[in-house]
Amino acid sequence: MSEKDRLRTYRGKRNFDTTAEPSGDHTAARDDEEPAFVVQIHDASTMHFDFRLEVDGVLKSWSIPKGPSTDPHDKRLAVPTEDHPLDYRDFEGVIPHDEYGGGTVIVWDRGTYRPAGHDKRDRPVPFEEALENGHATFDLHGEKLRGRYALTRFKGHEDKPTWLLVRKGSGGSGGTPDPRRARSARSGRTLRQVAEEAEGSDGT
Ligand code: MN
Repeated sequence: MSEKDRLRTYRGKRNFDTTAEPSGDHTAARDDEEPAFVVQIHDASTMHFDFRLEVDGVLKSWSIPKGPSTDPHDKRLAVPTEDHPLDYRDFEGVIPHDEYGGGTVIVWDRGTYRPAGHDKRDRPVPFEEALENGHATFDLHGEKLRGRYALTRFKGHEDKPTWLLVRKGSGGSGGTPDPRRARSARSGRTLRQVAEEAEGSDGT
């Protein structure tokens, strides 16, 4: 499938005359770099974290109500959402309230990841295949999140596919961030500061 087709759902939900989110029309190809990941905090109708992994030119995305945890005992519900364009990893700002996902977004963490899945003969499993099979492990190299995580699919409420994000191995420090106090890895700002600056720049 072309990138354009994979972003159809994403584009169908949004009016790019109104929202400042990227349309994904100008995404440059990235060949030699390690794939990116980003965790955004999104103060929408319900506060949540958006966890996104670069896979084959788009950002595979999950909405995580409680956010990622560095504690291996915490299983975090991760609800799949539509693929996002690669440039979305830099998006920080305010989505207008009458738009899909209306509310404030900050880039809480960003970096790269390395697939870590192996089959029974210890051969690396291609990451897309791992996701299709419903179990993907990867090492995050972020500014905040570091170390191995796994995403595992299960049949959730009403048989809708849902995933769990779990820290593997010994946990790091930090636990779970408080979304209202957390600061952007990009700009150092909190959700409130991003919202206030957006209001100021509108003159409202
Ligand atoms: Mn979101």
